Amino acid sequence: MQHTLDKFMKIITTLLHDESDHPVAQFVPSQELFDTIDLSLQKEGIPEEEFDQVLTDLVLKSPRTATNAFFNQLFGGRNDKAVLGDLLAVMLNNSMYTYKAAGPQIGVEKVVLREVCRLIGWGDKADGTFAPGGSMTNYMAMVMARDAYDATIRYKGGRDNMIVYTSKESHYSIPKNAAFSGIGRDNVRYVPTNALGQIDAAALEQMIQNDITSGGHPTMVNLTAGTTVLGAFDAIRPISEICQAHDIWLHVDGAYCGSVLFSDRYKHLIDGIELVDSFSVNAHKMIGTPLSCSIIVAKNKKHLHDSFSNDASYLYQTDHDEFNLGKTSLQCGRRNDALKFWTLWKSVGTNGLAKIVDHQFDLGETARDYIRAHKDYTLYSFEDSISICFNYRNIPARALCTALYEQEELLVGYGSFGTDEFVRFVTINAQNSHQDILDFFAKLERFVAHHHELSVLEVQSS
Ligand SMILES: *Cc1c(COP(=O)(O)O)cnc(C)c1O
Repeated sequence: MQHTLDKFMKIITTLLHDESDHPVAQFVPSQELFDTIDLSLQKEGIPEEEFDQVLTDLVLKSPRTATNAFFNQLFGGRNDKAVLGDLLAVMLNNSMYTYKAAGPQIGVEKVVLREVCRLIGWGDKADGTFAPGGSMTNYMAMVMARDAYDATIRYKGGRDNMIVYTSKESHYSIPKNAAFSGIGRDNVRYVPTNALGQIDAAALEQMIQNDITSGGHPTMVNLTAGTTVLGAFDAIRPISEICQAHDIWLHVDGAYCGSVLFSDRYKHLIDGIELVDSFSVNAHKMIGTPLSCSIIVAKNKKHLHDSFSNDASYLYQTDHDEFNLGKTSLQCGRRNDALKFWTLWKSVGTNGLAKIVDHQFDLGETARDYIRAHKDYTLYSFEDSISICFNYRNIPARALCTALYEQEELLVGYGSFGTDEFVRFVTINAQNSHQDILDFFAKLERFVAHHHELSVLEVQSS
């Protein structure tokens, strides 16, 4: 093992050096992938030197998500304390279903979940778990909502006319989960939003009334804390009143920006969070832990138990259920995703987490200020968001983002709201400085100036 760890250090040191010179990896077109890197598997193994070579090659050619040129998705950067935790989790390889198999690691997960519940303002009845990704934590919320509506469904199977409400701007996992849970994609209602991308409470109320009148059973409302494109926050309080009046499960999908929970400055964006039934948050997004670190918490842990526990005498042989976390999880064997969050949290404290969150909003402000001060740009997004949506000189966002990627300049994506399509620049990497944000714009402008083919597109579109 020691030999392998030395090898790991060598490969990673090579990567770190190369990253600082080349923040974007060499572009390997998908149709040339198998000719560029030897990924083939054969009957016989290969000599160690060749093995090291191909590993290094693979590592160096993989997209670099930790550098100051990666703005493509809703994660980025490399937090060393969290990386340390995740490396330890790999070496320990505990499985989180029982105390017998995970020991003190169970305490690590419980402490993280307890602290998240406490920050929400929930008491002893609340609890949560980790799942492989925000889509899956949203899935767990929907299953709890379904079972809270009708506890017999998990035995007898589905029942017609359960209806889920979510905004047009919410994540695609909502309709996907409706298919998984037996509620059905056709029973997802897409509620319109206001100009800021937030769910329209009056429209929601009207849709609920209409469905009740025609024999439907409103089962769940999903709100989003940080919509995927604009980074908008749905208002929780008014929707919570509607849900209470009609006895509907209220979930907040905070996969993207639910981590404002850790910041005194930005917690107001999820004002009323203590009123909801369940809340999901990805620490691998704003907090910057390695993928994946996805938490779901429920105001009443009874629902986690009702929906996810199963007796298994071969597994649960010792200790109280409170310490056998398999009783409330989606999976059976489960990697320890809590440890990387705990190592970071332990080392920097809740105030350190707040600083990580606050810095991203500060970077977002720097980006918006820059865009507003330069007339070649059009801004499409709003205050209190770390998604900065813009167009530059009316160049179609798709063409611009693709050219930047293929020419190994910057990784940034595009999105749309209403009829506008634009570049979506995300300031989620808290290791970036204000200068990194300004450098992004400088790089983009230089790139366009040197690529005549893009300027031609501008003329055509305007
Ligand atoms: C990223 C995201 C998800 C999905 O999370 P994964 O961890 O990628 O599965 C769900 N909802 C929102 C709002 C997101 O931004």
